[in-house]
Amino acid sequence: MKNITIAIDGFSSTGKSTLAKQLAKHLGYIYVDTGAMYRAVTFFAMENGYISKDFFDKETLINSLPSIKLHFEFNTDLGFAEMFLNDINIEKEIRTIEVSSFVSKVAEVSQVRAKLVEQQQEMGKNKAIVMDGRDIGTVVFPDAELKIFMTASAETRAQRRFDELQAKGDNVSYEEVLKNVQERDYIDTHRDDSPLVIADDAIEIDNSYLSREEQFQAVLDLVDEVINS
Ligand code: C5P
Repeated sequence: MKNITIAIDGFSSTGKSTLAKQLAKHLGYIYVDTGAMYRAVTFFAMENGYISKDFFDKETLINSLPSIKLHFEFNTDLGFAEMFLNDINIEKEIRTIEVSSFVSKVAEVSQVRAKLVEQQQEMGKNKAIVMDGRDIGTVVFPDAELKIFMTASAETRAQRRFDELQAKGDNVSYEEVLKNVQERDYIDTHRDDSPLVIADDAIEIDNSYLSREEQFQAVLDLVDEVINS
């Protein structure tokens, strides 16, 4: 069977990673969550005091980039790969609202993007990969055989993220989550380097009213079409 590259882009909390994980498992492909990589660099910047509420020392972060080593390790119990920063598992640490509130600022920095895009392209050089993010179909793999762009209303997405955070015991309000989703949408779509845009050849899926299973089946049909074309 032909191996392909599947690029999944879209707004925050549209369920990209859920879909990407389902697809990768079904097809026996590698799954890469590129948002986790931007979150890891953000966590590094926070830990080292390069970023806080009213302060961002971009230059020092840029100069420190060579000392940031990222890799994923597959966790068989969880069924997905976890993010490691300099050999330490930081999967939990990168999912907090604090990291979410700074990550889009870090993701605006071209030098950060260049480093991460290079690593992402290396991971996908043999195809058989599902990668999700904001610039996968436009910048990382412009030749991907299948590009999906996922969207849903900000309120629907904030509610989903709020439910997830609540389930983890995170004490945040719905309003705080909605504000974060809207802020990230704004920064991600307005930055100069690799803004979030729909690739010309991407297929848009608004999943506001689709169940996970309906969405998965719809995308599997697209995958079959591409693989058998
Ligand atoms: O996908 P997730 O919400 O975890 O991504 C966190 C942030 O990382 C996004 O809001 C965006 O600012 C940035 N990002 C990006 N390019 C990607 C993946 C994520 O700029 N390919």
